[in-house]
Parts: sequence; structure tokens; C-alpha cells
Amino acid sequence: MSQPTSYPWERNEPARRRRFLADYGFDELAELLEGWGFKRCNARDLFTRVQRRGLRRYGDIEPHVLPRALLTRLAAADAPPLEPFAGVEDHLSADGSVKCMYRLTDGLKVESVLMPHGAYHTYCVSSQAGCALGCGFCATGAMGFRRHLSPGEIVGQVLHMRRLDRRSGKGSHRINVVFMGMGEPLHNLENTLAAFDILTHPYGLVLSEKDVAVSTSGLVPKIEEMGRRPRRPRLMVSLAATDDEARSAIMPVNRAYPLETLLAALERYPLRKREQIMLSYVLIAGVNDRPEDAERLAAMSRRFPSIVNLIPMNEHADSPGMAEPAEERLQWFYRRLKRAGAFTTIRRSRGRDVSGACGQLAAVAS
Ligand code: SAH
Ligand code: SF4
Repeated sequence: MSQPTSYPWERNEPARRRRFLADYGFDELAELLEGWGFKRCNARDLFTRVQRRGLRRYGDIEPHVLPRALLTRLAAADAPPLEPFAGVEDHLSADGSVKCMYRLTDGLKVESVLMPHGAYHTYCVSSQAGCALGCGFCATGAMGFRRHLSPGEIVGQVLHMRRLDRRSGKGSHRINVVFMGMGEPLHNLENTLAAFDILTHPYGLVLSEKDVAVSTSGLVPKIEEMGRRPRRPRLMVSLAATDDEARSAIMPVNRAYPLETLLAALERYPLRKREQIMLSYVLIAGVNDRPEDAERLAAMSRRFPSIVNLIPMNEHADSPGMAEPAEERLQWFYRRLKRAGAFTTIRRSRGRDVSGACGQLAAVAS
């Protein structure tokens, strides 16, 4: 596993040290405004305009909402810029999902996917540009690690998708945010949790804790750290194999935190009432779809409250030889898991035609 010694963020981005407004948690924003001589209630109005209403230009704030002096201060060159992206492109898939590609201010690109599901809309967000963990089946892993996203760059994806929903007249659904786009959110735990705090803040979008889920490849110390937080997102863990040899071959993180270490941590994980851990299992033809895999996976899932989520492999050029299983095989594996006592669902990836499906996100820097 290649661990960066210093983050590219620190290394080659002096200009990027300036924070965007969306990077600020409510208390930090209140501190900033109080430092400028304004009131805490002004911070509340500004935070709500940005985080709930999706404001994109300070100039759009109605003059009666904030003091004129504050609007002038926000227009100054050293005030935090409102928009965290240099550009956004949306690609509509035939299945109704939208892949959004964001150009960051340093030229890197990341992606998010909006997936409407009836009353719920799932927003799948990226937490890093690239990923350090190098899973053999994943296009993001093949890119390598570029840098962590800031809280505002994560929150900004949610705000953008929310605006898309509003524009298409679908503003009344509930939102689920899943950190399953590019990157390993627990490698960027601090910014991931800062984004979670912003998204669930009562003055912002007011998502509930259970409306946000973080998916990890199994960084055990970070799982434990997240479990100690009183407020935290739901936990999803990606397995992709059921024995150490096979898992280490396709998920290098397994060499640092082998299956038994990971499963023991999940057994200890402090779940809330009726909470379950989602175990994602990307099913790859001839690699991890044997009868013994189904038996072992079911046995793992019985050790703590969990649901197994089967994701048929999305094929892409960076993982040659890793193919989607035939439909009969997928159904057979699913039945076998159920019979062995595992709550199981199949996730059909959305947005394949615009390369927005799981494991297909691999935007390249321009
Ligand atoms: N780094 C985190 C979250 C991002 S990956 C993690 O690994 O959990 C999101 C999910 O996509 C993971 O469950 C991963 O197993 C799955 N995935 C990656 N590549 C895939 C592919 N080619 N086909 C199907 N699912 C894939
Ligand atoms: Fe990183 Fe997750 Fe892809 Fe593995 S599956 S390379 S951890 S994004």
C-alpha cells in the first residue's frame, strides 16, 4: 500500500491554502464573522444560504438578509471564495442517473453520481482525487493517489447535485449521501467527518446521521476512530474476497489489516439501535464466486448485524481479466448466501453508459 509521506495538497498547492466558504463548519464560520466584527446570527444566515439554499454568488444574497458591510467584506479579495470548483460537467445516463465531473481549482478532476430511487435520491460522492489503496478491480485505484479533498470540495458535490434536483423539480425527495465515489474516505477521515458535520448541521441541509454512509476498504484504526465519535455516518465495508490470500491479491490493504483483524474490529464496532454494517462484495467471474466464498461470506456476515450487498463487477480497461459474472451465477451466489443466513441485496450499478458505475470513476487531470 503506497502511503504518501506528505500530501500533494501541502506540497504543490500554496495557492490552495485559501479555504472556500463551503469548507467552514458553522462554528468556524461564526468565528470568522465575529473576527470581522459581525454577529453569530449573521453566520447562521450565511451558512443557511450556502448549505441549505445552495447559493453560488455572494451577490445573490438579498440585502435585507445580511448587513451591507458584511456583503462588502465578502466581496473583498481575501474573503473565502464561495464556489469550490473551477468547473462542473454533467452527463445524463439513460437510466436517469447523472455523473457529475468537477474540475478542482488545481486542475484535478473528481466525480460524483446522482441516482434517483423513488422518494430517495442517492448522492455518491468522492473523498479524494485518486486513491492510494490500489485495489485490482477498481479504476480509481489504478490512478494512484493525487490528493485529499477538502470538506468544502466534498460538500460542494452534494450542493451541486441538490441544485440539479431542484432545477428538475425533484426537490422534495430525501437525500442519501454515500462516500462511494473516488477515494478512500477513511484515509481522509478528518475532512470526511468535517463534511459529515456540515451536511448534518441543523442550519444546513439537516441530513440525519443515518442518511450518510461511508464506505471503506478496511482501514481498521480509522474504523475504530470513527466508532469512538458520538456522531458518525453509517459504516460500509468492502470485502471482495473471503480468505486472506485472495483478498491480499486484489486488495493490498488486506496485508496491513487482514480479514480476522478487520472482522474482529467490526464485531466490536459500537452500532446504534437497529444499525447494520453494509458489507459490499464486488462479484468477479471465476475470482470470488465459488461455493466456499458464499459460505465464508455468509459466516462473516452472521458475526455482527449486517447486510451483504453484491455488486456485479463493472468491467473497465484498467482491470483486464476481471469480468462480470453471468446473471445465473450472480443469482445462484445470491441464493446461496441467503440460504446460509446472510441478509443479501444485489446492487445494479447505475450510470454504466457514462462510466459512472462503481469502480469506473477515474477522471484524469487535465
Ligand atoms: N474506497 C472505498 C469507497 C470507494 S469504492 C471502498 O473501497 O469501500 C466504492 C465501492 O465500489 C467499493 O465497495 C468497491 O468494492 C466497489 N468497486 C470498486 N471497483 C469496482 C468495480 N470495477 N465493479 C464493481 N464495484 C467496484
Ligand atoms: Fe480505493 Fe475503494 Fe477503489 Fe480500493 S475500491 S482502490 S479503496 S476507491
